[in-house]
Amino acid sequence: MQYPRPLSRLIEELGRLPGIGTKTAQRLALYLVGRPPAEVQALAQAILEASEKIVFCSQCFNITDVDPCRLCTDPRRDSSLLCVVEQPRDVFALERTGEFRGRYHVLHGAISPMEGIGPDDLRIKELLVRLEQHPVDEVILATNSTVEGEATAMYLARLLKPAGIKVSRIAYGLPVGGDLEYVDEVTLSRALEGRRQL
Ligand SMILES: [Zn+2]
Repeated sequence: MQYPRPLSRLIEELGRLPGIGTKTAQRLALYLVGRPPAEVQALAQAILEASEKIVFCSQCFNITDVDPCRLCTDPRRDSSLLCVVEQPRDVFALERTGEFRGRYHVLHGAISPMEGIGPDDLRIKELLVRLEQHPVDEVILATNSTVEGEATAMYLARLLKPAGIKVSRIAYGLPVGGDLEYVDEVTLSRALEGRRQL
């Protein structure tokens, strides 16, 4: 017994989402077609609007609906501290700690020879230009404590230190191999506090 065509198409689309397997996609699709049309419309509208209005900040490359983003233009943020992270979700994780008052730079990934991701695939060039135009007192490398995250931190440290930039790495009382976003706020604050110079 096959699903009607519109339903199987919805299952197919939902199944493309990260973390959604076929079973979950089927469950979600069957749930959605059982909801009132107005509710489904609101969901569809929210997806479209987010997709249309969210862009990357031209300075820090975090996701934003205004460019430059609010973190980049907020005069209360300390522009002498720059925290480098892999993904936009890491910015949100660090912001939740309320501990960091500097600015961010989002690389959009980490160096991974296995996956064919090199430095040129990340926002590293943009980071260098930014540091040249707006020198900072310290660059904090807050990439994940995975092999890729460590390799990226080492690469950046080797690149930045000869230019006389103070570079530090957040302390990992964080689980090795762990993603930043899954770490609780207290551990993350401590990791930031206990960063060591590279
Ligand atoms: Zn920004």
